[in-house]
Amino acid sequence: MNEVKKPKKPLIFYYGIALCVILLVNLLVMPQIYKAQIKEVDYGAFMQMTQDGKIEEVQIEDNQILFKLKDSEQIYKTGVLEDPGLTERLFASGAKFSGEIVEETSPILSFVLSWVLPIVIFWGLGQLLSRQLMKRAGGANSMMFNMGKSNAKVYVKSSGGIRFDDVAGEDEAKENLSEIVDYLHDPEKYKGIGASMPKGILLVGPPGTGKTMLAKAVAGEANVPFFSMSGSEFVEMFVGMGASKLRDLFKQAKEKAPCIVFIDEIDAIGGKRDGRLGSNDEREQTLNQLLTEMDGFEGNSGVMILAATNRPEMLDPALTRPGRFDRRVPVELPDLKGREAILRVHAKKVSVAPDVDYGRIARMAAGASGAELANIVNEAALRAVRQNRKAVTQADLEESIEVVIAGYQKKNAILSDKEKMIVAYHEIGHALVAAKQTNSAPVQKITIVPRTSGALGYTMQVDEGEHYLMSREEILNKIATLTGGRAAEEVACHTVTTGASNDIEQATKLARAMLTRYGMSEEFDMVAFETVQNQYLGGDAALTCSAETQTKIDEQVVSLVKEMHEKARKILTDNRRKLDDLANYLYANETITGEAFMQILNA
Ligand code: ADP
Repeated sequence: MNEVKKPKKPLIFYYGIALCVILLVNLLVMPQIYKAQIKEVDYGAFMQMTQDGKIEEVQIEDNQILFKLKDSEQIYKTGVLEDPGLTERLFASGAKFSGEIVEETSPILSFVLSWVLPIVIFWGLGQLLSRQLMKRAGGANSMMFNMGKSNAKVYVKSSGGIRFDDVAGEDEAKENLSEIVDYLHDPEKYKGIGASMPKGILLVGPPGTGKTMLAKAVAGEANVPFFSMSGSEFVEMFVGMGASKLRDLFKQAKEKAPCIVFIDEIDAIGGKRDGRLGSNDEREQTLNQLLTEMDGFEGNSGVMILAATNRPEMLDPALTRPGRFDRRVPVELPDLKGREAILRVHAKKVSVAPDVDYGRIARMAAGASGAELANIVNEAALRAVRQNRKAVTQADLEESIEVVIAGYQKKNAILSDKEKMIVAYHEIGHALVAAKQTNSAPVQKITIVPRTSGALGYTMQVDEGEHYLMSREEILNKIATLTGGRAAEEVACHTVTTGASNDIEQATKLARAMLTRYGMSEEFDMVAFETVQNQYLGGDAALTCSAETQTKIDEQVVSLVKEMHEKARKILTDNRRKLDDLANYLYANETITGEAFMQILNA
């Protein structure tokens, strides 16, 4: 919800109101009060009373005659008529002529109305204004006081019920953390032997692999309070505020010990203090405070700090030294078994048809993180709802993998026939080169339905078991496969298109990595020219070599890719008939499965 603030009214507005009130009182209320005292009578009655000698006092004005009777305080009033003898008659009747028959109300009342009331109004107004100003200033004050307070979210009692069982896969990480849980349950066991628990545990891994979930699960299993805060929340405009927030956070934590303090994205405050231009005083202060706090409490005080980051290499060495974050728990992308387990965990939350093959889905979703798998299940459920079904089917899940990885299918066919043919040749080119090199089915499925991500075709690779190493030959084969798309365009369509740009990028990256990181060239032997900077965020590499070497590397990269491109072209030329058959099949059906592909290839 957005907070809507009223525009502030200027001071003059309030004074205007006061003036209006006074004017209204004088113009409307006062005359009413006067009026209430005076009774109007007709002229005849006045003449009669004069004649009877009843009038005691009279005041003749231009437009009215006011008079009082003997033995009465009541004031009467009547209009003025042409009556020449009136003065004489009145005099004869014994009436006194008076100038101020109507006392302007009682003196007290008039004093109250003309002096006290305005003062009261102004005083009230003053109070109102000063209170408002106080409130505003008070707001600023309390903001000042709160600035140094940590606004950590505190989850007392099992943090929304997340348990280790809810985190699928990640067995190593869970094993590592269950020791912490055991310690929080029974610290005496550890103290007895003299062992002290690590003060801090750093969870590192790519985004969406369940680091936050694991931290919450530790708190859930141990059933202790869980303070959660993101590193960026410490960074304030004013230097020193983050440090003071940290102090406050640890003060609270110590009061609640045993407990867990979780700092997400710790790289926001824990980055290296390099003193470079543009380094951030506030961040460094906060980091210093964190270092001090972590030194400040004993190993067995019962406060456990968990922190998560995607960029461990960015962290200050002082932070990662033993005694602070002494343990580092890698939370990697899930393997095949892990993916299947994660799918099952999330599938429990939706109703799934009994025939769903989770193993197959996990195999298709190679390289997906836990968060992506959760998303895949959810997309599948949404698809089932869209099609008015009661349960999620295998087809829903398969389609949603493509949706999560490549985007939704584009509804309107935007490809011309010629383009579609080229795309079919391109995709088959990749697959055929791959298949001829390994003699096995290289793909699960190829489709040439345009996707909202911009991909015109989409190839789902086979992921047979896990690979941890790649040999030189495998990398070369992969480069050849990547060039296969372009090679097929050249061989079959006698043209080249822009569709290969991503392949080119990847092939170049691989060839360069062979030379600069993996030591796979004869000339450079085992010398590293590149260092990977963001292991978990895309893995960008920085080149560190002389300009001459760089030139040589570039030349060798070019010749390597050229060689593989030539190889791909040769494979496709040698298998020209198969290439045409497969491309025509794909063109006609828009989709080809791995089995159909192998059937046509081996026919
Ligand atoms: P991280 O902190 O590593 O970026 P999170 O812990 O916030 O990732 O995970 C994001 C979401 O992904 C979780 O809410 C959960 O739905 C899903 N997820 C990630 N890893 C797993 C896992 N191992 N098991 C179950 N769900 C997972």
